[in-house]
Amino acid sequence: MTGPSLPDLTTYDGVLFDLDGVLTPTAEVHMHAWRTMFEELFAAWEVTPPYSDADYFAHLDGKKRYDGVAGLLRSRDVEVPWGDPSDASTADTVCGIGNRKNDVFARVLRDEGIAPYPGSVALLDVLIAAEVPIAVVSSSKNAEEVLAVAGIRDRFSVVMDGVIAERDHLASKPAPDVFAEAARMLGVDPARSAAVEDALSGVQSAVAAGYGLVVGVDRGAGAETLRDAGAHVVVNDLAEFVEKEIPA
Ligand SMILES: [Mg+2]
Repeated sequence: MTGPSLPDLTTYDGVLFDLDGVLTPTAEVHMHAWRTMFEELFAAWEVTPPYSDADYFAHLDGKKRYDGVAGLLRSRDVEVPWGDPSDASTADTVCGIGNRKNDVFARVLRDEGIAPYPGSVALLDVLIAAEVPIAVVSSSKNAEEVLAVAGIRDRFSVVMDGVIAERDHLASKPAPDVFAEAARMLGVDPARSAAVEDALSGVQSAVAAGYGLVVGVDRGAGAETLRDAGAHVVVNDLAEFVEKEIPA
């Protein structure tokens, strides 16, 4: 089932997938949610200059949610109290504003939907047909909703997400906890299973959990960087695992 030099994933006891950036292009939804939230906020507070996508890359992309909010507000000389992660999403605190973004994320997701990467769906189809156990291992607390909206929730019996991780006090990636626990839930041995990740921290988590194969999907992190983090193979798209040989 594979192209030259790629391992056959159907030979593994289980295949465990990260969600954001591996199964779905979720980053676009996050970017849209930040834009919607800050445009509304800056208009209401008469903050100038208005929010632009440059703010996303300068202050929000790759940052922890609350740190991103604080940094962006600082760039506009706006100061609000930090607050607490339990703050309501209506609270005018750093945490409240960060929580507001999460509400907008859910709204954008519902209104506009999200299509999974076709190559990823093709690989899921192959693994399911071969009766290979598969799972999702995501840090996101929105994983269940993203999977449902993308129409692929019912393909997975096990979804290890940010809600379970918080409930069970599992350390986040790059610690091995979530990948180790997801393998246990799926009933597979990590040493005979494969993990698929697009983030450095995710690759490191799977390597630390002792996965027999760690696949890096390069959605921008860079193949060399993913390999340095411990990925055994790096692909640009999961379709590479299902490419049929072209008959002569
Ligand atoms: Mg990811």
